[in-house]
Amino acid sequence: MTKAICLKVAGLSKRFGGLAANNDIHFSVEEGEIVSVIGPNGAGKSTLFNCVTGFYKPDSGNVFFYGKDITRMRSDKVCNLGIARTFQIVEVISDMTVLENVTTGALLRFHRIKPAMEKAGEILTFTGLYEKRAFLGTELTIADKKRLEVSMALATRPRLLMLDESMAGLTKVELREMLDLIRKIRNEGMTLIIVEHVMEAVMQISDRVVVLNSGKKIMEGTPKEVCSDREVIQAYLGEKYCAIIK
Ligand code: ADP
Ligand code: MG
Repeated sequence: MTKAICLKVAGLSKRFGGLAANNDIHFSVEEGEIVSVIGPNGAGKSTLFNCVTGFYKPDSGNVFFYGKDITRMRSDKVCNLGIARTFQIVEVISDMTVLENVTTGALLRFHRIKPAMEKAGEILTFTGLYEKRAFLGTELTIADKKRLEVSMALATRPRLLMLDESMAGLTKVELREMLDLIRKIRNEGMTLIIVEHVMEAVMQISDRVVVLNSGKKIMEGTPKEVCSDREVIQAYLGEKYCAIIK
């Protein structure tokens, strides 16, 4: 049986002045998949996330979420439909506690404080941050801030979760914990698209990988296929890394 197409990006382009940050990008993500988007700095990964989630308006092309055209829809509407994302620069509210931060996300679905707070508590248990629910945003390590951001995104009850560099700057142990959390999220039935530079993580976790370079998709395939592609190695991965994989 074929699975439902969760997200379809068709011919998406976004320019900033003379720069084509996204140039005619096409790809689809099936329900339940984990797809990584990789590529060098400036390749257009965050722009793609911003175009899909309504933070930027693409110049041309379309985005479909479960068949519904969501191109140029406002970000809050996109979130309401079931797409949540984190930002490359962690955006937690520093003078609020962990529980309060997650409650703000849950309010989108639950509207009243008490049920929203209960839901936030459940999510923090799921993500492993419940013990730190009374900590302020400023008191958290990078790894916990990233976990909090994921918790806030989950609180909006998404069907598709998009993570922008949630593993950057983590220690080996923290990285393993984040990978475990991502697998746990997928096991709940969610679909994930992740932007990641930590190749070790990308190769372990992804069903498929989309490679961007200078705003264009240059390759798409399984982690193994991507790793044996000359153009990808030259544009991004480097000979040394791929020698290790083989
Ligand atoms: P990545 O996330 O792959 O590192 P980005 O999507 O952030 O790349 O950026 C792609 C290109 O678009 C870069 O050259 C960047 O400077 C440019 N860019 C991104 N956002 C903006 C913006 N708001 N205004 C102008 N240029 C932008
Ligand atoms: Mg980026």
